[in-house]
Amino acid sequence: MQALKSNIVKASDIAVLIHGGVGRIHKEPLSPQLEIQYREAITHALNEGLKVITTGAKSIDAVEASIRILEDCPLFNAGKGAVYANNEMIELDAAIMDGKSLKAGAVAGVRTIKNPISAARKVIDNSPHVMLVGKGADEFAKHNSLDIVDQTYFKVEERWQQILKLKKGNNIDQFFTDHPTKMGTVGCVAIDDGGGLAAGTSTGGMLNKKFGRVGDTPIIGAGTYANNICAVSCTGHGEYFIRHAVAHDICAMIEYKSIAVSAAVQEMIAQKLTNAGGSGGLIAMDSKANIAVDYNTEGMFYGYIKRDGTIVVNVCNMIIE
Ligand code: ASP
Repeated sequence: MQALKSNIVKASDIAVLIHGGVGRIHKEPLSPQLEIQYREAITHALNEGLKVITTGAKSIDAVEASIRILEDCPLFNAGKGAVYANNEMIELDAAIMDGKSLKAGAVAGVRTIKNPISAARKVIDNSPHVMLVGKGADEFAKHNSLDIVDQTYFKVEERWQQILKLKKGNNIDQFFTDHPTKMGTVGCVAIDDGGGLAAGTSTGGMLNKKFGRVGDTPIIGAGTYANNICAVSCTGHGEYFIRHAVAHDICAMIEYKSIAVSAAVQEMIAQKLTNAGGSGGLIAMDSKANIAVDYNTEGMFYGYIKRDGTIVVNVCNMIIE
């Protein structure tokens, strides 16, 4: 387990906070070109989120807008750019939650939805359900006039080569035995003018996943959760986040122990997750817009934007294969 890196920020004027996944730091720094591309993508997503907030819309609208930008960017493991499952298919998971109403929507294992976060949003708006999976979820998205694409849309050569290499190397069980290294899940938390919080997360899951495996991302309370106390989006080895109901537990710690979001996040990552052997990180924002970003991996991409448009982006030197 790598040494814990802690990045706690207190700032009451932050509007939108996003992450672009956790992973390993490369011995070589990110190339300047790639670093610029990551910074631009994260900046674009933050600006889009703030734009929505400043029109007076709800935080859930900002979360959806920011995540759509990252889903459309091939650099991240979400939407276009997602990693391949062992069956050489792209199978996407996403969830979104509104903190005030506790309304939540999620899709899992979808193969044809260009922007799974919008499908998750439609589950809230146009269905009596919380979570739809597989073919049914793909059909639901089509019925709701979302953009439908075929698998070739998602194909990014580097991602394709990753799965071929893994399978050719007779490493088909790597997912189950090795520390996961290919991350890049995206997530967002935001607060609106009315003090409403929201959270969303979108991912291709873990490279080489098998048998319809679903991670924490679309599981409400595990990878994604928001109430009127806190909004949380997680990234990392999903099985651990599911077992520890990480996103909900952060909110519960703040509520029941009357501790700050930073303390709850630290306890979760430095103690609970690390002691369990899980790797990953998360972003969290409380109802006063205090934020906490923490991870026990070597690196995590994240950024936030204040209401005056000031942007801070952290792009660590991670392996982005
Ligand atoms: N948490 C995601 C999953 O387990 C993967 C990630 O965040 O990188 O599916």
